[in-house]
Amino acid sequence: MAYISTRGEAPKLSFTEALLAGLAPDGGLYVPEAMPHLAAETLRGFAGKPYVDVAQSVISPYLDATLPADEFKPMLEAAYASFRHKAVTPLAQIDDNLFVLELFHGPTLAFKDVAMQLLGRLMDRALKARGKRATIIGATSGDTGAAAIEAFRGLDQVDVFILYPHGRVSDVQRRQMTTVAADNIHAIALEGTFDDAQAILKRFFRNQPLREELGLSGVNSINFARVVAQMVYYFTSAAVLGGPLRKVSFTVPTGNFGDILAGHMARQMGLPIEKLVVATNSNDILARALATGRYEVRGVHATQSPSMDIQVSSNFERLLFDAVGRDAAEIRGLMASLDQSGAFDIPPAALEKIREEFSAGAASEAETAGEIARTWRECEYILDPHTAVAVHVARKNLARDPATPMVALGTAHPAKFPDAVRAATGLSAPLPAHLADLFERKERFDVLPNDEQAIASFVRARARAVTLAQK
Ligand SMILES: *Cc1c(COP(=O)(O)O)cnc(C)c1O
Repeated sequence: MAYISTRGEAPKLSFTEALLAGLAPDGGLYVPEAMPHLAAETLRGFAGKPYVDVAQSVISPYLDATLPADEFKPMLEAAYASFRHKAVTPLAQIDDNLFVLELFHGPTLAFKDVAMQLLGRLMDRALKARGKRATIIGATSGDTGAAAIEAFRGLDQVDVFILYPHGRVSDVQRRQMTTVAADNIHAIALEGTFDDAQAILKRFFRNQPLREELGLSGVNSINFARVVAQMVYYFTSAAVLGGPLRKVSFTVPTGNFGDILAGHMARQMGLPIEKLVVATNSNDILARALATGRYEVRGVHATQSPSMDIQVSSNFERLLFDAVGRDAAEIRGLMASLDQSGAFDIPPAALEKIREEFSAGAASEAETAGEIARTWRECEYILDPHTAVAVHVARKNLARDPATPMVALGTAHPAKFPDAVRAATGLSAPLPAHLADLFERKERFDVLPNDEQAIASFVRARARAVTLAQK
């Protein structure tokens, strides 16, 4: 499979090249040149299959010949052996026809582990084969950083620099990033927001000399390999609920649009999905964009679901690319308008297509807390605040179409956000055993200003991909 940029001005790459590149040099995102399709018979065969077997069927069409099946399968097995649940991503029922897809049984208790555990292994293998070192710089609203650090710590081939917004992530999230004692891991508290961190990252990727000097790679959800890994659980959960004979809907708590984009691609591959529902907290750019057709950035406010405190939803560009009939020039125009004026209007035909496939809703802070309390009361099941945003929005959609099973994606373990859980229910959600001593571990991080130059010199001084002569 070859990969092209949504902005049409970057060379075509193989899967492994796109994996190592992250963002395209023209500022676009890599997408497969054509979407693979799985036959209905293949989908029927997913019922009752182990997660890793389904993963192999879904992901293999995206790989290139340098990664044969007999090497890929053990990588999948190792990646998902790090999960504490045998089913990897089990379903829990919380109401008539309403289910939570538990994506949080990985090492850092958020759904980011599903993709990152595989990404770390794929990158390590690709770099070793090339005898290369890479520098990974990630911007995180909390969970990506922890998942990347967990997936890459101690690797010889890679140095990891994670920028997180200082003071805007939960204590558990911060400690998961700052207490890992590995020389190749660098946690940076940026004096700014997540969007500031992401903007710095995007400028680094567009700076070709810096990019080459550092051997820069990205692990943000802009990395296409992450999206592919996230498609798998749409297939496994639909199979449990009677797919492909019966359609299923999904409600996805959304920030950077990576998780729900995987649902869009699963549908393009042939999975019968009724609706994909975008659920946002009060940072509701996506819900507004679907309602009004205008994608308009406003200020970010801090909520109890911080991993969704995002305004610029990078992966939305991949959906737009499809919706405008893969017209890269049109995407360049829309993105230039976003850069210059912080907004663009979705072309009417594209908006219509998007609305056929997606609907959207937002949950306020009070509604989120109310949902945590309600689900606890009705089922003795504790939702984390991100999952609660999804469940709240899912209930409204289920009311409109009660016959179609609704799956709300459970993106984090409640113990990751204990303050929100306690405020809503009075309960303390204990950390699983492997993290029980998290608050006794020693923290290590640097606070840096929201300044591209300051971050660049910090990284250059520490990255092993930069030779001494270059320093
Ligand atoms: C990252 C994250 C999200 C948002 O996912 P996107 O792919 O950015 O839309 C939602 N919930 C949790 C817990 C997350 O970590």
